[in-house]
Amino acid sequence: MKIKPLDILSKYYGYTSFRKGQESIINSIINKKDVLAIMPTGGGKSVCYQVPALCLEGITIVISPLISLMKDQVDTLKVMGIDAEFINSSLSTTEYNQILENIELDKYKLLYVAPERLDSMEFINLMKTKNISQIAIDEAHCISSWGHDFRPSYKRIPYFIKSLNIRPIVTAFTATASDEVKYDIMNILDLQKPDVYITGFDRENLSINIVKSSSKNRYLLDYIENHKNESGIIYAATRKEVESIYEGLLKRNYSVSKYHAGLTNEIRKENQEKFINDEIQIMVATNAFGMGIDKFNVRWVIHYNMPQSIENYYQEIGRAGRDGEASECVLLFTPGDVHTQKYLVEVGIDNPERKRIQYKKLQQMVDLVYSNGCYRKSILNYFGDDLEGKCDNCSNCLNEGEVVDKTLDAQKVISCIARMKRSFGATMIIDVLRGSKNKKVIEQKFDSLTTYGIMKNYSAEDLKTFINTLVAHGFLEVVENIGVRGSFPTIKLNEQSMRVIKNEIKVEFKESRVTKSRYVENELYERLVELRSEIARENYIAPYMVFGDSVLKSMSSTYATTKEEMISISGVGEIKYEKYGNKFINIIKEYLLEYGIDKESNTKKLNNNEDGEFLFVNTDIKLYEKLKELRLKYAQKEKTMPYRILSNNTLKEISGRYPKDNIELNDISGIGPVKIDKYGKDILEIVNSYIKENNIDTLWKEKNKLKVVIDGESRKNNEIALDLLNQGKSIEYISEELETSISTILGYIYDYVKEGQLINFKLNLKDFYNNEEKEIILDACRAFGEEKISVIKKNLPDYIKYESIRAVILEKYLEKMGYNV
Ligand code: ADP
Repeated sequence: MKIKPLDILSKYYGYTSFRKGQESIINSIINKKDVLAIMPTGGGKSVCYQVPALCLEGITIVISPLISLMKDQVDTLKVMGIDAEFINSSLSTTEYNQILENIELDKYKLLYVAPERLDSMEFINLMKTKNISQIAIDEAHCISSWGHDFRPSYKRIPYFIKSLNIRPIVTAFTATASDEVKYDIMNILDLQKPDVYITGFDRENLSINIVKSSSKNRYLLDYIENHKNESGIIYAATRKEVESIYEGLLKRNYSVSKYHAGLTNEIRKENQEKFINDEIQIMVATNAFGMGIDKFNVRWVIHYNMPQSIENYYQEIGRAGRDGEASECVLLFTPGDVHTQKYLVEVGIDNPERKRIQYKKLQQMVDLVYSNGCYRKSILNYFGDDLEGKCDNCSNCLNEGEVVDKTLDAQKVISCIARMKRSFGATMIIDVLRGSKNKKVIEQKFDSLTTYGIMKNYSAEDLKTFINTLVAHGFLEVVENIGVRGSFPTIKLNEQSMRVIKNEIKVEFKESRVTKSRYVENELYERLVELRSEIARENYIAPYMVFGDSVLKSMSSTYATTKEEMISISGVGEIKYEKYGNKFINIIKEYLLEYGIDKESNTKKLNNNEDGEFLFVNTDIKLYEKLKELRLKYAQKEKTMPYRILSNNTLKEISGRYPKDNIELNDISGIGPVKIDKYGKDILEIVNSYIKENNIDTLWKEKNKLKVVIDGESRKNNEIALDLLNQGKSIEYISEELETSISTILGYIYDYVKEGQLINFKLNLKDFYNNEEKEIILDACRAFGEEKISVIKKNLPDYIKYESIRAVILEKYLEKMGYNV
């Protein structure tokens, strides 16, 4: 009996279902049809030709352009227990002869070759005698001179096919193909009535975030700090910029490497390998980096500068999330990027026609950055693909951050520039707006302008950011001026500026926020990662070939210790289980023993409410994001803060418990009949359609009297707050994180010190009151005592906030205890 494709997928790859398009493609091939498949990067092309290779009799030849990829693919197959080999110029003569001998003996199901090999008569003559089931051409766009990486050697493929006595099934795969390229692939390869599959270019797992901000460094550092333990790439436009970012991160002790054309081949190779093997977490690089990098667990890509074209952008962000898991792409944009790219086109391209095309592409990239619609839709349209509706996974769709109306401030800046008459640089404009007594300002008599000093409430740095943001949104313009000491930028008004002044348009910005890592700290996971690296080193393969990140995460959260439990994890097939399963099980068992975790009762507690005191809930991130979006809409409608609608914890609890009707919704903490009346219908609609779309098997568990523990977090708010303070987080940060007022946090600290605990963290108490307020509060304390805050508040003017009172009292107490505050 023939083995079914799905059985192969499960046995060797450990996956339970096919992805979009895979099954039909595989069926076409098994039914002896030629195939052209256009699938996005990470869509799972390899499975499409590898599974048929195992179903069909004979050997499949895979033609692939890159030596490094070939080796990775073959290593991955070998680890899965599939007989495969590759031939390319990196082999010694002895190795090559050994492989030819094995081909002769029909030892392989798959043979990867570089197109150059198809010239060798020895190879052709050998293959003529063999039963070749399929010739699969990977990166098939390389055959077309219209393709972005045309390889002349690909033109040899059709001659090779013709030279065979029996024509095998011919299949071609690529991630990007315009109509011209598609036509070339079919014609040059002479595909016979091929079944053509286009599953689109969309990489649904990549979120696209474009941030217009002048404080790139601050954003970058925040981001990296929030995404520790994840692999990522930072792309910068020039070598100089790469070097400076690299140095900055190295100084802060991040695990970082660099890659650009100024480094020697050896160093580049070494750095690249360290990154692929997870020895280094962050790669800072120019666009020279990435071609042929087969690393699956790149979780984020940050563009420190805007790239030169949408093609470049999409190709570079495409390096994230090849394992299909959610990954983030952030483009940090300032108008200066356009100047840098123009300069690079100017000095890098001689041919006037190519220069013209490149400028056009650059303009399209700039248009994308400024567009207000769904970014993904614009990108897909650019490639001739369509997206219905909006993606809900880009910063324009998600509307992240609050929208703030900055029209008035913008008018102040614009009218100041108008009054200054000539074009000046940003520094001079800032000086005037902040009322500086700088000599140049006085000389020009700018201190007599009505706009002199009208923006003193801004710090110089914040004002610079604001002006740059105005430029980035096209409300002002930067012009380069050539002077005796080289070129210098000045700022001038444009049509948009005039419309702002006339109140014809509003200036509204979205505050951009740095997202948090999806990674949940987990010691067992760390131990499994370590074991994976060890196995990879011993076998000279990359870690992801052993198991992907998601597999290790599942192992660590389910405590899999039996074969059945292991095999039920997506990505663990029987063959790999036989090879490595026990090693991973041993680590998990060791961990359970060490921490005295009783797996049985733990699972029982999770599944059965009888004897536990906790109801453990794990956030379903995707559903949680959807609920947050809904909450944001309500918050905007009701003009209030999102957490006043429903707290994060309530949304997390909903996402992990999947209530399906009003009665179940009523069992969620933080939501009662009034809120159910207002928001229940929308929430249930989202939850129910999410369950349906994702085939989630839900079993409702009532809370009864159990305490809900979300994502393993059983600490109380005051404990979390103090842990965060001890980790160096600020009070403001914690207040936002816990959705608790600053005054409550100050109260936690007060109680903590009163208990006799020592504090080793820095407090910025002076930020919460001014001297005058302090005096009034101290007077009130003397009159009414310090314990009853509400009494003090009642007896003070309204403008004095709770947080000021608490800060003053805490400071007083700390001083008494001998702290230097
Ligand atoms: P492509 O060549 O299209 O960029 P790959 O073939 O390298 O993509 O596949 C990307 C990732 O997706 C690999 O980790 C692969 O094992 C995984 N994958 C492929 N098919 C499936 C599937 N049906 N279920 C789960 N994961 C899959």
